[in-house]
Amino acid sequence: MTVKTRFAPSPTGYLHVGGARTALYSWLYAKKHQGKFILRIEDTDRERSTEASVQAIFDGMSWLNLGHDEGPFYQTERFERYKEQINKLLESGNAYRCYCSKERLDKLREEQQVNKQNIGYDGHCRHLSQDEQDISQPHVIRFKNPQEGTVVFNDLIKGEIAVSNSELDDLIIARTDGTPTYNFTVVVDDSDMEISHVIRGDDHVNNTPRQINMIKALGADVPHYAHVPMILGDDGKRLSKRHGAVSVMQYRDLGYLPQAVLNYLVRLGWSHGDQEVFSIDEMIELFDLKDVNRAPSAFNTEKLNWLNQHYMKNLPVEEVMPHLQWHIEQAKLDVSNGPDLKQLIPVMADRVKTLKELVASVSYFYQDFDEFDAKAAKKHLRPVAKEPLETVKSKLTAQNDWTADSLHHLVSATAEALDIGMGKVGMPLRVAVTGSGMSPDLGITLEWIGKDRALQRIDKALAFIAEREAQA
Ligand code: GLU
Repeated sequence: MTVKTRFAPSPTGYLHVGGARTALYSWLYAKKHQGKFILRIEDTDRERSTEASVQAIFDGMSWLNLGHDEGPFYQTERFERYKEQINKLLESGNAYRCYCSKERLDKLREEQQVNKQNIGYDGHCRHLSQDEQDISQPHVIRFKNPQEGTVVFNDLIKGEIAVSNSELDDLIIARTDGTPTYNFTVVVDDSDMEISHVIRGDDHVNNTPRQINMIKALGADVPHYAHVPMILGDDGKRLSKRHGAVSVMQYRDLGYLPQAVLNYLVRLGWSHGDQEVFSIDEMIELFDLKDVNRAPSAFNTEKLNWLNQHYMKNLPVEEVMPHLQWHIEQAKLDVSNGPDLKQLIPVMADRVKTLKELVASVSYFYQDFDEFDAKAAKKHLRPVAKEPLETVKSKLTAQNDWTADSLHHLVSATAEALDIGMGKVGMPLRVAVTGSGMSPDLGITLEWIGKDRALQRIDKALAFIAEREAQA
């Protein structure tokens, strides 16, 4: 059997991280079995589907690098096919026209509620003969669900699920205007596209018995099903906007690497021993549906941060570069005059959790700042810092070998010569040249800032101290 999986989002918003995880699991499963992964856009709800949401799905999938082997298929382009299959069910006696008015159905529901019966259609039109029908009258088409027996399927995550047909009413498969309904289009598509494994969110698990009945009525093979439990926020409720970022692209904007997001998502509900870090190849090799948790998983931002830092530090710099570049563009930071970004990544990755933070914390390497960070200046640009700064400035002025090691040495030699702690020179110098109290090792910092800039900035800091002295 060729494994074929699909991701079938409805384009009614952004690509949710829950959807992305489902997509990843489907994608991994297909790759693992040398199968095919299909992308299908379920856009039949014309009021809620938008072009922008379709684009958001493509953007999210392509940012995550989850390419599809077939598609994208659009359900709105397949109406003819759905009509054909509806007719097939009508002809085989597996579907029927229902003329019940809204009033009748409302009344039926009320009665069922009062009598505490299962809510559902009562099959009123199920046995109408040809003569009893006037098909020019408004009607819907219902699937004739079997009335006896039980639908049993072995969910590859949840285990065996059995639902008695007596609990399933006759579902509408075509509306009065002839358009097909959601459960029916899924069934036609899954069988036409020869999907072998339907991997989807468990909000769809209740649809599955009905879908199985319809697939059988169409004479098609029933696929395997795997329903992935939902993702919870840190308060135990279903992950939603209230909890923070839920769209995949928000994670890009926040400065996460797709590699980190994928690794995070694969572990959110799936495990392999106590391993936390998985390359894509390892995920493909090790992922299995039977190891997906049955219980919902809780989102944990700290773990995502940890993974992101891990990938910033450990991925080949070339893989991080395009993502970093994107953030640099967003921040409109001109990096033409300063250290090479490739050098910057390994040094800065130790100090920040995201690419966005990284970009925000390196601007002093490329451009001058207007003001010193108030808190850092208050603490370190004080009159006592004047002498150390002047001394280090004259040593730097005379310094020709402008490399990290020798600059580092120069700073410690200054502290020794003045017989003061390294911090008493280093911190004022750091604030002077970077504007804040945080930067990598001073040797590297000075090397990257460059001699001219460093000296100018020290002058600025000395002026700041002088002004402060005058005000005191
Ligand atoms: N279109 C459905 C959704 O976005 C998914 C349907 C399915 O996977 O069967 O929730």
